[in-house]
Amino acid sequence: MAEPAWANLLYTPNETCFECDTKTKYIDFALRRRLCLGCRKDLIRFKPKDKRTGLGFNKNLFDLVPYTETGGSYSGRSGSYQSYWRPDLEAMQIKVDRLQQKSREEYNDFLKTRTLEVADILDSAKDLQSWHINKKRVKDVADERRRDDRYNDIVERLVAAGYRRDEITRRLFSDEKGVEGVTRLTDEAWANIELKLKEILDFNRAERIKGRRRVHTMSHIMPSCDRSCLFRSSSSRANFSPPDNASSVLRQHPTSLIYRSSLT
Ligand SMILES: [Zn+2]
Repeated sequence: MAEPAWANLLYTPNETCFECDTKTKYIDFALRRRLCLGCRKDLIRFKPKDKRTGLGFNKNLFDLVPYTETGGSYSGRSGSYQSYWRPDLEAMQIKVDRLQQKSREEYNDFLKTRTLEVADILDSAKDLQSWHINKKRVKDVADERRRDDRYNDIVERLVAAGYRRDEITRRLFSDEKGVEGVTRLTDEAWANIELKLKEILDFNRAERIKGRRRVHTMSHIMPSCDRSCLFRSSSSRANFSPPDNASSVLRQHPTSLIYRSSLT
C-alpha cells in the first residue's frame, strides 16, 4: 500500500466507508480499508473450516490474501475466525489463473513472494491496530480535558454574573449543546448560550424556593410529622392527600402568611 493511500486511510477528515461512502470510524488494518458494518456483512467471507470447500475459490488462495479476524457474515454457516474481503479473493483468483496459464515457474515464484508479503501485512496490521487504539485513547483524554476547560469557563462566567457556584451543576445543562464541546469558549459562543443557561438557573432557583415554601407550609399543617415524612409526601404529590383537619388548620394559618414568613 502506497504512502498516500495509508495517509488517506489514517488521517482523512472524511471518515467514510471505502465502498459505499457511509460514515464510519472503523478501519480494518489487515484489509487496509475503512469499512462500514453493512459492507463488512456483505463482502467479508469466513474461511470455511472444511478444507474441501473454498467458497467457490481455489483453496490455495487463502494463503495469498490477507485476512481479518474481526468478522462479518458467512450466510449463517460456521467458519474459522479468519475472514476475507471477497473482492480481494476474486482479484487474486484472476491473477493466479493468469500466472498458471503463463508459466509454472513464474506461478511458483509468485506463491513464495506473495505468501511472505501476506505475512508481513498481517504483522504490520497488528502493530497499526495497537497504535491506532493508543492514538484514540490519547485523543479521548485530551478531548475530556478540553470539555472540562470549556465547562469551567462557563461556570466562571456565570459566577461573575452573580450565580452561586453551588447552584451550577453540569447535569442542569445536559440538554444544552453549546455547553459540552472540545473547542475553547469564545465570546461569540458564550453569547449564544448565556441567556438560556441563566434561564435554566433562574428556573431551578425558583423551584428550590417553591419547594422550601411547600415544606415550610406542610410543617405548619402537620406539626407532628417530621421533615423526612414531609419530603416523602412532597416527592409523591400525586398521591398525597391532606389530613382531615387540613381546612381548619389552613383557616388558622393562612397560606399567604406562612409563605411570607418563609421569605427570608
Ligand atoms: Zn460501506
